[in-house]
Amino acid sequence: MSESSSTDGPPEQRHISSRLMKESLMDRDLLRRTDGDSVLSMLPYADVLKIGGQSIIDRGRDAIMPIIEELADNIESHRMIIGVGGGTRSRHVYDLGLQLGLPTGMLAQLGGAVSEQNAHIIGALLGGYGAVRIPKDHFEELPLYLRVGCPCVVSGMPPYGLWEQPPEVGRIPAHRTDCGVYMISEVYGTRTMIFIKDVDGLYTDDPKKNASAEFIPRISVSELLRRDLKDLAIERKLLEMMCNARQTKSIQIVNGLKAGNITRALNNEHVGTIIHRDQEEGE
Ligand code: ADP
Ligand code: MG
Repeated sequence: MSESSSTDGPPEQRHISSRLMKESLMDRDLLRRTDGDSVLSMLPYADVLKIGGQSIIDRGRDAIMPIIEELADNIESHRMIIGVGGGTRSRHVYDLGLQLGLPTGMLAQLGGAVSEQNAHIIGALLGGYGAVRIPKDHFEELPLYLRVGCPCVVSGMPPYGLWEQPPEVGRIPAHRTDCGVYMISEVYGTRTMIFIKDVDGLYTDDPKKNASAEFIPRISVSELLRRDLKDLAIERKLLEMMCNARQTKSIQIVNGLKAGNITRALNNEHVGTIIHRDQEEGE
């Protein structure tokens, strides 16, 4: 937007001209031209981690507590936003909702409430180390908390709620907690995006069901989409989101059940599977 003085009017009269005035915002050429400017990274020093609901939290104390301690050990050296998944209880509520004929948007509301519960749990466990749980309406406080060294715990579910679109296949919301936490990293332009799960990373198939599944240490999103694997360790929609990433062009999936992995990933080590946007990125 630019401001210019009118030559005819009194000196104080100003006209505001905008590049987008009188445009429909649907014109392809116009839209293409809006992509030239660089995007502001609002929290370039922050690390975003996602604690899996089913893969970690549902395993209970033995899985959760060592991860809490490892995260706590990293508070001095890292500014962390910790997103939390829903897990088995969201699956149960989706199943119940499906049986009752609830639409996708309503299922998204229900799933969001479960991920919120898990955020309360992780927030409580990290509270003694100075962490704060931030509801989505208070995300503008993230820079303040991070600056003073408080890790921030957030629900992973993106807040589409009733506005979640019906997916191509089935009725379960396609944007769930992997997508939601990834979008926090993308919009704030954070340093890292680490998914803490119970597998060493991505395989050619679910390693729990197929013993001959092969480990994939590093892969580009386009290659992964091309392979169209039958099952994945992260939400499929996340891969589509990464195709359009402006900031978070690389993510890592790590096994949080193995001590030290989270710390190593925070220190930029390759300990799991790195998925990157293009061939040359994340190398
Ligand atoms: P979270 O609770 O972190 O959201 P999920 O349980 O939704 O995790 O997804 C992780 C699980 O996905 C793994 O525990 C693994 O059993 C399964 N999985 C399915 N396909 C794959 C694959 N191709 N590679 C690795 N894990 C896979
Ligand atoms: Mg999941």
